Amino acid sequence: MDDKPGPGPLSETSEFLFSFGVIADIQYADLEDGYNFQGNRRRYYRHSLLHLQGAIEHWNTEGSPPRCVLQLGDIIDGYNAQYKASEKSLELVMNTFQMLKVPVHHTWGNHEFYNFSRNYLTNSKLNTKFLEDQIVHHPETVPSENYYAYHFVPFPQFRFILLDAYDLSVLGVDQSSAKYQQCLKILKGHNPNSELNSPQGLSEPQFVQFNGGFSQEQLNWLNEVLTFSDTNQEKVVIVSHLPIYPEASDSVCLAWNYRDALAVIWSHRCVVCFFAGHTHDGGYSEDPFGVHHVNLEGVIETAPDSQAFGTVYVYPDKMMLKGRGRVPDRIMNYKRENAFRC
Ligand SMILES: [Zn+2]
Repeated sequence: MDDKPGPGPLSETSEFLFSFGVIADIQYADLEDGYNFQGNRRRYYRHSLLHLQGAIEHWNTEGSPPRCVLQLGDIIDGYNAQYKASEKSLELVMNTFQMLKVPVHHTWGNHEFYNFSRNYLTNSKLNTKFLEDQIVHHPETVPSENYYAYHFVPFPQFRFILLDAYDLSVLGVDQSSAKYQQCLKILKGHNPNSELNSPQGLSEPQFVQFNGGFSQEQLNWLNEVLTFSDTNQEKVVIVSHLPIYPEASDSVCLAWNYRDALAVIWSHRCVVCFFAGHTHDGGYSEDPFGVHHVNLEGVIETAPDSQAFGTVYVYPDKMMLKGRGRVPDRIMNYKRENAFRC
């Protein structure tokens, strides 16, 4: 077990403000261990629940409890659908989350849509939009019902934005809908393979069925929220199941239109970091605009004798990710001109 001492609020010279937890790709299923599609990564389907329990026990007993936990998607594995165990497995994982003493924000990934329709998810406990913040007199910062995204403020001057990376997707939508046809057209326009989950031969290998993208409507909303945050000198953390920065990910796992999302983020000063899951191996890169992209290591491919979660400690000039098990520590300084003057 990894038991390094955390950076700890008291070990820092600058003032500790608050913390939050991060965890990704739990992919629980009541199944024997298996392997990923390439056959080179072991998947611990049952043990993932014990990893989650360990993370929750840790967060519950931290001296200064986190304000919230960000669950980055793929909470149960797609195999559950095959065994008609989707609801039972979801209930088991959600009962485990009930033990957590702080709010959890759930992101939706491809495995959510292998198990459930978008409609089902909207009415399920995986919809945590009720935790959103509403900015009085700024209706442009209210998300539409067409996608699952919202923003919230866990601490004054820090806004978190949860994005829907499957807003454009052929997963989870009714095949008779116009949206499905539109998304299938986008996917096929970039992927001529008969197996749409295959990136073989693609110049843009992220155009596979297990990924998705952001609609222009959602990106316009994101732009409005970031404009508000810029104006009010807030720091912003963005959360999405799919990563958007190629240097922090493998080229296949990115959101379809990751460039569009980057263009919006790069046109603002307020974004500090972008947390994603999906890749399982993890990754990190600071982009040229000073945004830190963290792809969290997935619980599902974490051996029973290790761990995969983290706590992010927030300071006036930086965020420090304290990783557990195979999640490495990261120091994420704010862009210099953006650090708070305290
Ligand atoms: Zn995924």
